[in-house]
Amino acid sequence: LVGAAVETLAAAADLLSSERARVQLLLVDDAQHLDPQAARLVQVLAAGAELCVIAGDPRQTVFGYRGADPALLRADGPSITLTQSHRCSASVAHAVEALTRRLPGIDSTAALTGSEEAGSVEVRIAATPHAEFAVIADALRRAHLIDGIPWADMAVIVRSVPRMGPALARALTAAGVPVDGLQSDAPLIAVPAVRALMTVLEATVDGLTAERALALMTGPIGRVDPVSLRQLRRALRRRAADPAVEFGDLLVAAVAGRGSAGGSGRSVEGLPDELGRALKRVRTVLTAARDSVKRSDDPRHTLWQAWNRSGLQRRWLAASERGGAVGEQADRDLDAMTALFDVAEQYVERTAGASLRGLVDHVAGLTLPPARSDRKPTADAVAVLSAHSALDREWDVVVIAGLQEGLWPNVTARGGILATQQLVDVLDGVADPADRTLSGRAPLLAEERRLLIAAVGRARRRLLVTAVDSDNGDAALLPSPFCHELAAVATESHTESELPVRAPRVLATNAVVGRLRSVVCSPSEDVDEAQRICAATQLARLTEAGVHGSDPESWYGLREVSTRAPLWDGAGEAVTLSPSTVQMLLDCPLRWLLERHGGGSVRDVRSALGSLVHALVAEPVVSEARLHGELQRIWSALPFDAQWHADNELSRHEEMLSTFTRWRADTRNRFTEVGTEIAVDGEVLAAADDQPAVRIRGRLDRLERDSEGRLVVVDIKTGKSPVTKDDAQAHAQLAMYQLAVAEGLLADSAEPGGGRLVYLGKTSGGSATEREQDPLTVEGHAQWQAQVSDAAAATRGPQFVARVNDGCAHCPVAAMCPARQTTNEDR
Ligand code: SF4
Repeated sequence: LVGAAVETLAAAADLLSSERARVQLLLVDDAQHLDPQAARLVQVLAAGAELCVIAGDPRQTVFGYRGADPALLRADGPSITLTQSHRCSASVAHAVEALTRRLPGIDSTAALTGSEEAGSVEVRIAATPHAEFAVIADALRRAHLIDGIPWADMAVIVRSVPRMGPALARALTAAGVPVDGLQSDAPLIAVPAVRALMTVLEATVDGLTAERALALMTGPIGRVDPVSLRQLRRALRRRAADPAVEFGDLLVAAVAGRGSAGGSGRSVEGLPDELGRALKRVRTVLTAARDSVKRSDDPRHTLWQAWNRSGLQRRWLAASERGGAVGEQADRDLDAMTALFDVAEQYVERTAGASLRGLVDHVAGLTLPPARSDRKPTADAVAVLSAHSALDREWDVVVIAGLQEGLWPNVTARGGILATQQLVDVLDGVADPADRTLSGRAPLLAEERRLLIAAVGRARRRLLVTAVDSDNGDAALLPSPFCHELAAVATESHTESELPVRAPRVLATNAVVGRLRSVVCSPSEDVDEAQRICAATQLARLTEAGVHGSDPESWYGLREVSTRAPLWDGAGEAVTLSPSTVQMLLDCPLRWLLERHGGGSVRDVRSALGSLVHALVAEPVVSEARLHGELQRIWSALPFDAQWHADNELSRHEEMLSTFTRWRADTRNRFTEVGTEIAVDGEVLAAADDQPAVRIRGRLDRLERDSEGRLVVVDIKTGKSPVTKDDAQAHAQLAMYQLAVAEGLLADSAEPGGGRLVYLGKTSGGSATEREQDPLTVEGHAQWQAQVSDAAAATRGPQFVARVNDGCAHCPVAAMCPARQTTNEDR
């Protein structure tokens, strides 16, 4: 367009003279951003003006990638160099000056001076990205709460918004800093609010699965937090007639409003009110969508019914009106929903035979973010934006975040392998095609420095620069050299500034409430009474002000314990143990308790694969080819995340089945198969005095008879790490089955012939790795009975010991283990 104007003026003398007559005073600002064509237009018009003033700052030429050139500022004519900044405080101006001094081709004799305004420059190097975000959130909140600086007078400038912006905005919002100016670059389906509604539609079209039920319960509709989810898990399991039914199936039944899965026919009445309401919310939305489909409504109406019955609109509108960080998030969610309805509208209008299934697929297939909303920028919020977007703005407080090596300066050659950038420069006449002597890196470095100077110059009073210094293997992060230059002129010093700082305690409501609660609840040896009273008083004030989480009534774990009685009481009782839990009880009773009551890890694909292999090898005398065929038939139904993983695992498991058939063939001269998957159930220790009887219940993989007629117990393992030979001798599970043999639970009057652990995932010389346990002796029998007695005693309670052992590294309940917490602190 500018080129066309120049050409028109050159071709039409009348037009040129009339324009020159019209423009008598020509003022040009930010002339450093003009490209050669725009500069030519200025020169053409300036030739007829009485006065032409061209202002600019060559140190802020940051649009070199689109041809900007500050040459116009060097044009003939009188020039004045301005050295007084009326925007920046003296300290910020000093920082600009320090960066400018290393800029090539700049007159360093004309030093920049700042305004009278008090200001500061601070550089904080954080130990992790999380700590960097906490430093920024804390600085912004303190500036707002203590110094009274409006949110709108603060900004966070980053070099790359896609790389850093979304995570930073999320962290700031979570810490109670309202953020503006950053829209999600994620596709619509990645927005949790949209995802929840689409899950409802998927469940309506394809049926409710365990995964969908869980997503709905924990998403914006159900709003069940992890702690409540555990409560729900326990409550549903308690009600299940069959304890073997998976939690997912129980949840599906509960959400669908059927009786307890497992066939008891009982409902899930009696759940805590909050959980009952969550189930009802999800159920209501699903029912609304299903009814709409039954009425053959078009997909838009079904979506509307689900949305309408979810109650989210009312909830988010109320949050939006209340404002603050939560209101900001509500605004974004409402925007996403508006975009979803727009997409649905377009889909139905443009698609012949539009269906709900089609709408679900259409939304899932959208990979671009929704169109930007025309919502006005929030009046009182911190701007998070790129350095280029910040150019025409200014704030009291500016944070320059992510000043990392490789990111800022970013000296990656622009223009790719074809050097299109250089071509454009040559065509624009700002580069000499014959000049190949200069390093391509130097101009890029200078441009990055100019961009930083421009960003620093956006700060009226305070400047905070942050970066991460973390040597974390492949993801090592180093502060940029610019950080060190700015640190040299910083006005704020920190005793820890030499070290990367850890996440500070953010001056945020949640964090303050958390700290006060920890003081109130600490043991008396850790805090004195005056501190405790002071913290309690502050909490009472916050409760009065309605601050969430400050009222002890809402704290977890403050209810009276339900009972202090042991779980069972002495003689006359029978304790039932499974052979696999005996070792756990001996190692750590607390882990046994927590895993048994819902604290165990969710069953994943890996454990499902283990069960699959066990089920296949339990088939009596099946050929290797048939085992492979069965495995392949089932394989496609397994929920792998990626095809390459599925393929790798398939060949690994085929190899395990081949190893098993080899092991079975090789051992027939030693063993004769007695049975597989044998149920074991019976008493291995009689009740005595105050000791209960102990019953063993489990399922033995294989039972073989050796050449001496003794029974050998075999446990098949699919893991890759065999236990040591010594550990196999002390293996509690094998010993329990041997005990069961000795007690006559598997066959009358049979003698135990030892045990074998057979590792299919670890071969040696082409065969499965075996670990052996010697046949149970009379002394061994007595010793293991004593161990069983100890294990049974450990289930009694009410105290359960957390005993640190070799298995702690893989313990799924370590997060709630007091012994581990002590160890971590000690470390
Ligand atoms: S971490 Fe160790 S001590 Fe703690 S519960 Fe788990 S196994 Fe027991």
